[in-house]
Amino acid sequence: MEEQKSFVDNSIGCLFLVPTPIGNLEDMTYRAVNTLNEVNLIAAEDTRNTKKLLNHFEIETDLISFHEHNTAQRIPELIEKMQTGIKIAQVSDAGTPSISDPGKELVKAAVENDIPVVPLPGATASITALIASGLNPEHFYFYGFLPRKGKERTELLNEIEKRIEPTIIYESPYRVKKTIEDFVEYFGENRQVSLARELTKLHEAFLRGSVQEVSEYYKEHEPKGEYVIVIAGKTAVEVKEKPNDALIKDVQELIDDGLKPNQAIKQVANQNNLKKQFVYNLFHEIGE
Ligand code: SAM
Repeated sequence: MEEQKSFVDNSIGCLFLVPTPIGNLEDMTYRAVNTLNEVNLIAAEDTRNTKKLLNHFEIETDLISFHEHNTAQRIPELIEKMQTGIKIAQVSDAGTPSISDPGKELVKAAVENDIPVVPLPGATASITALIASGLNPEHFYFYGFLPRKGKERTELLNEIEKRIEPTIIYESPYRVKKTIEDFVEYFGENRQVSLARELTKLHEAFLRGSVQEVSEYYKEHEPKGEYVIVIAGKTAVEVKEKPNDALIKDVQELIDDGLKPNQAIKQVANQNNLKKQFVYNLFHEIGE
């Protein structure tokens, strides 16, 4: 086993993964512009779309189409080119390649063929929406597009319902209302949610509140533009399975065994997947 270095000299081909703006062209990084200028070929999800971006930045590199319908045919061609020393940059229509976009199969093939893969950091709607959601972004689950219907959707919503961290979902404006209605049904009225619309663009806006409030809002407003939905995880109180008196008893027993009250509270909170503050309040009879 050996590390594969990302630094590439001019004698070998490689695959650069280059994020592009999700709206605002100023979000293109210097490195992304330089890389697209310097590579021999750009594999683009939609060449006409990427051509506009290249024109804006006066980049003249050749383009080749690489999308979900020609992946199988293109991969051997691109791999062969890189094996002969050609440097290729892969881009999607917007945001980070492979994130609900083409790319993952090409990366896998490059890795299998010992071709260096050089990822560039950059725009993605997912993280941009998460950090402004007002929900705790410390841990999160990215899902992307939900299955549209059937058992797959039901099972997934049931799975997300149990998560304690926020989930990031991509959604088309035509399906936002239905998805929010499903959230009310599966997660209960009070679960918090944040909808990020048209990120980085002129009409960027956020709608934050309970799923019931958001559902009411969309009875009077039509969703427009591109959306990322960030749905909150279950709160500690919702997740709690042990009755309160059993939790208090557990804390007391640990204290009787010699632990300091704060240590006992922390241990019981961890064991039960609860917030420390919740167990603290319970034990000291504040709040609930
Ligand atoms: N690879 C992209 C990324 O890194 O974010 C995602 C591509 S996916 C095909 C497109 C979806 O991303 C849209 O349907 C929408 O849910 C979300 N999206 C992309 N740009 C957005 C924006 N400016 N504002 C809000 N959501 C956006």
